[in-house]
Amino acid sequence: MRPYTAYDSVSGWNQIQKEGQRCHDEQLRGGRRAKFAVVGAGFAGVAAARRLAEFYPGQEIVLLDALPAGEGAAGRSSGFMLDRVETKIDARNTGPQADWQTAILQSGLAWLHDTISARGIDCDWQDIGHYKTSTTLQGARELDHLLARLDGKGISYRRLSRLDISAEIGAAQCTNAVWLSNCVLVQPARLIQGLLATLPDQVKVYTNSAVDRFDIGNPHTLGVGPHEIKADVVVFCNNVTLPFFGYGGQRQLTVYTYAGMTPELDDQELAKFGTATAWGVTPVERLGPTTRKLVSRRFLFRAGFSYKKELPPSHMGPYLHHVYSQRYPQLKSHAFEYVWGGALSMTRNGAPIFGRMARNIYALSGCNASGILKMTALGKLLAEEIADADSPLLTDTRRFARPQWIPPEPLRSLAVSYNVARMKKAMRN
Ligand SMILES: Cc1cc2nc3c(=O)[nH]c(=O)nc-3n(C[C@H](O)[C@H](O)[C@H](O)COP(=O)(O)OP(=O)(O)OC[C@H]3O[C@@H](n4cnc5c(N)ncnc54)[C@H](O)[C@@H]3O)c2cc1C
Repeated sequence: MRPYTAYDSVSGWNQIQKEGQRCHDEQLRGGRRAKFAVVGAGFAGVAAARRLAEFYPGQEIVLLDALPAGEGAAGRSSGFMLDRVETKIDARNTGPQADWQTAILQSGLAWLHDTISARGIDCDWQDIGHYKTSTTLQGARELDHLLARLDGKGISYRRLSRLDISAEIGAAQCTNAVWLSNCVLVQPARLIQGLLATLPDQVKVYTNSAVDRFDIGNPHTLGVGPHEIKADVVVFCNNVTLPFFGYGGQRQLTVYTYAGMTPELDDQELAKFGTATAWGVTPVERLGPTTRKLVSRRFLFRAGFSYKKELPPSHMGPYLHHVYSQRYPQLKSHAFEYVWGGALSMTRNGAPIFGRMARNIYALSGCNASGILKMTALGKLLAEEIADADSPLLTDTRRFARPQWIPPEPLRSLAVSYNVARMKKAMRN
């Protein structure tokens, strides 16, 4: 296993940022001594570092990332922030576990909202809800099931007729859709870059600085090529590469998903996606695409998965093009300006890897494909765990953060193929 994910593609979200909007990159040089070293500057690591700074004012916290700022999965995501677990694509849990998951999502949303307001982070924050759609019979059944759960919780939604679907989102293939208020949409690269740029001064951020060595000691030592950091406490928030450092290998696996972003579209093309300037759609079918009409006059299309390895844009570009043209046959062009993939850590039961791994070593992973809110909230809670703070949410997190064992290879690959085949079959029904 490699210590970090070197991508074959770049995130379109970063490419469309204007000059001066990107966060400054500084590489680690020489040696440093810190109280805390946080590995991974995605949503988990940034939240953990910010919260640690609140508990330990004046203490040095080093935050390291292998890639340029915002080029990890955080800046590659689609920017959906759904704050109720029932409405997520992979909503398996019920009862107290589902209530805990919703509490996590809502705490992540509240914290992000407070942070971006207090720090003036401009990330196209749009509190506009989202559409949930289905394209298959199985999907229609799942949507009905979701609506029954929402009815049970007293959560309102608006059902769309076929005419509404065509007028509001223009998706030819969708047979059923509802609109739900529970979603905020963001420009994810601007969000993560804004969060990084506004960390307190005691947090030193080093990007393009891959940790490739970890020696346990007192203090611990992290190697970044020939450079070194000595830290009393190490916090791993590095998502899929956690097993490289000896933790989580039997509880998480790596999956990639892919996105394409179109060039700016003319008025005529934009009108084919309805009259609203922006919207977002997530599917009920687990393998279905997520789509967004963007304020930047572009269209975002996320679809497809691969296990363990990133497939190159030359492979995924034609695939995304094909699925996009099936869904929106009325468009003149289905060209993407940017196509990229991103790595996700998946646990078997959706529970995160969270907490103390060994003396003064902590870890957080297992975003399970939608981690903006989840990993933000858990990163904050991990800092609270380190600081020995307590809260009902932290108590519940300790209780529910129990990812199941995943068998090793070759059983692991077989299990992944079996599950994907099962989901594809369900989509044909
Ligand atoms: C195409 C796509 C669409 C998505 N859409 C959504 C969405 O709409 N909503 C949503 O909630 N989630 C979405 N996600 C998932 C979301 O991006 C992740 O769940 C989230 O980024 C996980 O946060 P994290 O901090 O755990 O990991 P990451 O964001 O992956 O951060 C971990 C960081 O650790 C760094 N790292 C790894 N190894 C090392 C090392 N050895 N040394 C130093 N640094 C290291 C990485 O470079 C990375 O930046 C999407 C993901 C993809 C790929």
